[in-house]
Amino acid sequence: MQSDTKTISFEPQVDTSTHIVNTDSHKRTNNFKSVLLSSPGQIWKSRLSWRIAAAVFMTILLVQTLIMNFGTLPAFKQRLLNDLRETGRSAVSSIIDPKASFNQTPFTSDQVARMVDTTKIQGIGVYSYQTEFLKSYGAPPSINKINIDNLSQINFVPEENFYETILNASDLKRPYYIVVRMSAGHIQDEIAYYIQDTIKIMLIMSLFVTTVLMIALGRWLLEPMLFMRNNLQAAFKNPEDPQIEDSPFDTRDEIGVAIDLAQKLIHQNADNLTRIKSAAEDKIHKLAYYDTLTGLPNRTLFIQSLSEGARQKQDGTADRFAVITIDLDHFKDINDSMGHNVGDAILRGVAKRLRSAMPESAVVSKSGEDEYMIMMPLSTDLSSSREVAEKVHHVIRTEPFKVFNESFQVRASIGVATFPDDAVDPDQVLKNADIALNRAKEEGRDTIKEYSEDFDRAVQARFQMLRDLRDAMENKQLELYYQPQMDLKSGKVIGAEALLRWFKPDNSKEGGTFISPADFIPVAEQSGLIVPIGEWVMRTACEMAKSWKEEHGYDIRIAINVSAHQFTQSDICAFTQKVIEEIGIDAHKVELEVTESVFMDDIQHTIQTLQNLHAIGVELAIDDFGTGYSSLSYLRQFPIDRLKIDQSFIRNALNNPDDASIARTIIALGRALNLKVIAEGVETIEHEAFLVKEGCDEVQGFRYSRPVPANNFLEFVQNYKDDLKPLEK
Ligand code: C2E
Ligand code: MG
Ligand code: MG
Repeated sequence: MQSDTKTISFEPQVDTSTHIVNTDSHKRTNNFKSVLLSSPGQIWKSRLSWRIAAAVFMTILLVQTLIMNFGTLPAFKQRLLNDLRETGRSAVSSIIDPKASFNQTPFTSDQVARMVDTTKIQGIGVYSYQTEFLKSYGAPPSINKINIDNLSQINFVPEENFYETILNASDLKRPYYIVVRMSAGHIQDEIAYYIQDTIKIMLIMSLFVTTVLMIALGRWLLEPMLFMRNNLQAAFKNPEDPQIEDSPFDTRDEIGVAIDLAQKLIHQNADNLTRIKSAAEDKIHKLAYYDTLTGLPNRTLFIQSLSEGARQKQDGTADRFAVITIDLDHFKDINDSMGHNVGDAILRGVAKRLRSAMPESAVVSKSGEDEYMIMMPLSTDLSSSREVAEKVHHVIRTEPFKVFNESFQVRASIGVATFPDDAVDPDQVLKNADIALNRAKEEGRDTIKEYSEDFDRAVQARFQMLRDLRDAMENKQLELYYQPQMDLKSGKVIGAEALLRWFKPDNSKEGGTFISPADFIPVAEQSGLIVPIGEWVMRTACEMAKSWKEEHGYDIRIAINVSAHQFTQSDICAFTQKVIEEIGIDAHKVELEVTESVFMDDIQHTIQTLQNLHAIGVELAIDDFGTGYSSLSYLRQFPIDRLKIDQSFIRNALNNPDDASIARTIIALGRALNLKVIAEGVETIEHEAFLVKEGCDEVQGFRYSRPVPANNFLEFVQNYKDDLKPLEK
């Protein structure tokens, strides 16, 4: 079904733009550039950067400090002391007297005093090669003994700012041991300077290394991460259409691969979301515009198509078109009696037949439970709406629908209107087609009705009549007339049919006109007004029958017409019982006349209602019998007392053998089913003679009396001489 609808030329332009999947629609913006440009700043603002920087900085500092403490600083100190010792050694060596004997001091006091003045040497202790003390000069060294254990002793006392070392023969190239005490205050300062300088260098190095590292980290780690963060933020904000930039990062390194994957995921997510949304929108669109059972466009889409078609016609880009409304006759019966599965299969079958019978340019829609609508451009092939309707009628009727191996003959009522011939407003064309469809249904269904302006007038007239009828009810313009019913064998008046009369006052000479119930009853039925009217009729008729009996002694059965709508629109049973009880009339003396149309509606409900009515005791007659749809099997199920032969058969019985045989058959049927048979429309003595001959039980007609007001009826009964003979004269 779906495929059919795609090609419809009048398909309206329902906005589908929102559900087009466009995977390229994710706009690439200059977002990335801004990330890169602002990144140096961002790097230093980043908490992560600061943590890494601090860690790197501290680590470098720590390592350098360790190196200094355990490596460079002791070495530096040692070098200073070595230098100092060398200074002392060369000063001492320069004043040593090479000619001095080995057990005498090789120095003169003057030389030493000069040396003390000009060098860092504060004093010396001189020992022979046999470690014998010879002499000391200047400040005496604290090492005052030379033995094999302290030969290499160095005495450095920073707090006292002196340094002592022992120079031996290999240092002096002379056979002495000389303890040299030197001023060492500068060493502390040098070490302090050294530490200061080293710390400065360490800081600069740390800063430099950290900066280089941060720039590298920033470029290779932070920038990509910020880029990814920004893209993820954008994707989070607008997952369906993320405003993200392609990754400029090298996909050969791990972070580049991660970003590439993240980018792909964002796009994949966006595509999935778009696809899901588009599928959901498609579904919503289908639900909103298509009938789920048949897949045909629904009423909404049809009306849009209609407007579109009208617009195209006005633009001159389209032809005139036919609007056909179709209603399946008595579809509810099939649904009720066979179940919804069968009903649905038939609805689908009808849809299929209609769709394949119509050209692609037609819009075939299902507009209600069992209603279809077709809009079709009229072309040379099918140039009139009537032809389209006939095709539809034929297609539905041509052969029964097969469901579960059972055949179902489906009939349809069809309304036809043409755009722009019948109306220039597309909605009005549809209304006109509906008016025509209603006409088709009223005129017995299974037929085609083309819209005519008369229908409109008729509809207007009906509305007027409905308004008038409401007034008539209020102003008590409705009256009941009574027509006698006689028993053919005894000749007695056994009943009276109550018939509604509406005398509508006007300015005429007569002061008003009688409106036929045949005209106003259908209006009352359609509007539901039949329910209060029917209740008034029943109450009035029963009161009348009661007064005839109580006040005048005539025990006459009262026949009251009940329309099918009263069965469906009210609880007729409860009301009848209430009236009978309130008025106090014998239930057997009340007869309800129903037409065969009551069997058309809900059969189960009808059977139940008739049985309930029968249980109260009222009699039941089928009015106008022979004109409608009755099945013998149904007749046996219904608790019917009387068949009322339709007057058309009686009227023609004498000159039309078919009608005569129908009348005869109904009488025989009544006898076979043990039902009474009454004939109405008995106008002449010949009619009466025919019915007597055929064995009919009861009669009613102008031959005896027209329907008359209650007073006249009483007069008729009072004057009537108990049998038919006086009337035969
Ligand atoms: P119906 O129930 O078949 O009533 C018989 C109709 O035949 C009456 O027409 C009556 O006047 C007419 N008639 C009786 N004898 C003869 C005859 O010998 N010759 C001819 N030509 N006609 C005869 P009426 O009163 O115009 O009623 C028409 C229909 O309106 C009734 O047909 C009935 O269906 C409906 N109707 C009348 N009153 C009521 C009512 O109170 N409630 C409902 N629901 N329908 C009513
Ligand atoms: Mg009747
Ligand atoms: Mg009748």
